[in-house]
Amino acid sequence: MRIAYQYKLLPTTEQKARLNNWLSMLRHCYNWMLADRFDWYEQNRCAVNACPLICHLPSLREQPEYYRQKRSLVQLKQDRSWYKDIYADVLQDCVKRVKLTFQRFVSGDSKGGRSGKPRFKGRNRYRTFSYPRIKQDCIQGNKIILPKIGAVKLRLHRSWPPGFTIKTASVTKKADGFYVTLSLEDKSIPDFVPEITPNKKNSIGIDLGLEKIVSTSTGELILPPKYFRASQDKLARLQQKANEKKKGSRARKLLDRKIAKLHQKIARQRKQFHFETARWLLSKADVVFVEDLSVKNMSRRCKPKQGEDGSYLPNGQSRKVGLNKSFADAGLSQFVDILSYKAEKAGLKVIKVDPRGTSQHCSNCLNRVPKELFDRWHCCYHCGLILDRDLNSAELIKKVGLGASLTLKRSTRKGREAHAVPC
Ligand SMILES: [Zn+2]
Repeated sequence: MRIAYQYKLLPTTEQKARLNNWLSMLRHCYNWMLADRFDWYEQNRCAVNACPLICHLPSLREQPEYYRQKRSLVQLKQDRSWYKDIYADVLQDCVKRVKLTFQRFVSGDSKGGRSGKPRFKGRNRYRTFSYPRIKQDCIQGNKIILPKIGAVKLRLHRSWPPGFTIKTASVTKKADGFYVTLSLEDKSIPDFVPEITPNKKNSIGIDLGLEKIVSTSTGELILPPKYFRASQDKLARLQQKANEKKKGSRARKLLDRKIAKLHQKIARQRKQFHFETARWLLSKADVVFVEDLSVKNMSRRCKPKQGEDGSYLPNGQSRKVGLNKSFADAGLSQFVDILSYKAEKAGLKVIKVDPRGTSQHCSNCLNRVPKELFDRWHCCYHCGLILDRDLNSAELIKKVGLGASLTLKRSTRKGREAHAVPC
């Protein structure tokens, strides 16, 4: 089993300067390697048989793949001797990052998801470097020994469970300072999938939403805390102030730092809420059924609409901005990730359920009860069940998770209006 613990670093001014210097050098190296790969791609992307008959063929260069780029580090250190300051493993890890980003762009990850074209990293965009190997006794007292950086003080706010060994360490620069993340492993604990058979008693279904972030099949509703909305005005004021200052000035830098810290605070508040809610949910049941949402699709921008003369017509995006902001503020996909992580750690199970039809059916008799988005109550005209819409969905998600199947049919607006029963 592998877990990660993060600790705050308290480097001296000298160490801080060195860490910043390393990050800057690694960023340049990263950008250069990426450009090298793009160049090759540009020069070789036309197949030879697709070239015009008479044309100049550039002399073909060998592809700058992982090992070739790794070997080029030797030359880099000869040409630019200041790169010798960086620990060799860290520099090689930078090459690995280029390889991974490029791979995800060209052939996708293990699940088939492809990323967009990798971008060059601007200043302050390269924030992490890692040691792929580190000594077991690197932590001595309240200090961690990072090769070529030295002993850096750290705040050991918690110790890790016994039996775990340190595999890697990565240093990250955040808005409020440097952090070190230790990846810990215990091989004696296998990554097993717990054998729990879900039944009516040990399982719970939850519906995720924006009005109520979590609705459970046991009848509880949790409202979203809306941390971003709470700090929105403060953020806007700070941003306006920063815009008035001259670019590159000290005053602007200070304000920018304040803004970054506020963003960090919002993200942390949200994360803590997610962890607490996940813990509370897992204390209630062994198996949690969640709908398999695609938040990315839900918060997508509206398609642009063009008139006959080529001008852009209103497409509803300005109305959707508020909705998208709420999606981002709720952080639903982060919540599902945290819930799965916590369940795995506790030997419990989170099962994703197909969400189709879970808002349009009755949880009692499984009949179709069509409703629009603004109908907040579920009134079944087959069995007479009257319930909050989200609680009905939660109950239904549990039933679907336990094996019930719904008859999925596309409803028409006419059909919905014909069956609409005023509550
Ligand atoms: Zn019913």
